[in-house]
Amino acid sequence: MMKFLSQVGDYVKEAGQAAKYIGQGMAVTFDHMRRRPITVQYPYEKLIPSERFRGRIHFEFDKCISCEVCVRVCPINLPVVDWEFNAEIKKKELRSYSIDFGVCIFCGNCVEFCPTNCLSMTEEYDLTVYDRHQLNFDNVAMGRMPTKVTEDPMVTPLRELAYLPKGEMEPHNVSHTERRAGKRPEEIIDEAMSDPKPPASESE
Ligand code: SF4
Ligand code: SF4
Repeated sequence: MMKFLSQVGDYVKEAGQAAKYIGQGMAVTFDHMRRRPITVQYPYEKLIPSERFRGRIHFEFDKCISCEVCVRVCPINLPVVDWEFNAEIKKKELRSYSIDFGVCIFCGNCVEFCPTNCLSMTEEYDLTVYDRHQLNFDNVAMGRMPTKVTEDPMVTPLRELAYLPKGEMEPHNVSHTERRAGKRPEEIIDEAMSDPKPPASESE
């Protein structure tokens, strides 16, 4: 009899523990129901890259003066600037320009330091190819502007999930004119300017 009661006690205890663990698991499940969806049906849907996104570099051949500043500031001396000196006009003439995006780390140094602004970073991030040598873009390939996610008729653009309005759960139906969550950079600057902190020497 005692053995039977002991077995029943063990059974009830284990059933209680199982119910507790099921409850914990369901709590995690229900918690996810209150969270924002993070699934994007790529490539039919794409997130709109942020304004300062550092994607594939665009090059404007006519603006380049072959100064090679981009090569010197590049951490791996990556851009290849092929030029010839024209003795008649005493100027360098650009023959070709290339960057191997299979090696580039998209740091943006070349774009920052180019004196004629002939380099710019685009929002293109999808650079998949079968042969990595195809990622060595010449000036013609670099001169092509990518199709914007917002203008691509094949793609449904989605706003970045972090920018959804507060409390918004469904990213697919949010209007582009709706207010973003959080503060804009200019608002943070305005706040900092209107409430300057006293210098360290004054506060001591
Ligand atoms: S983005 Fe950076 S790594 Fe790429 S070419 Fe420019 S400087 Fe070099
Ligand atoms: S820094 Fe700009 S102008 Fe100079 S070689 Fe590079 S791309 Fe051309």
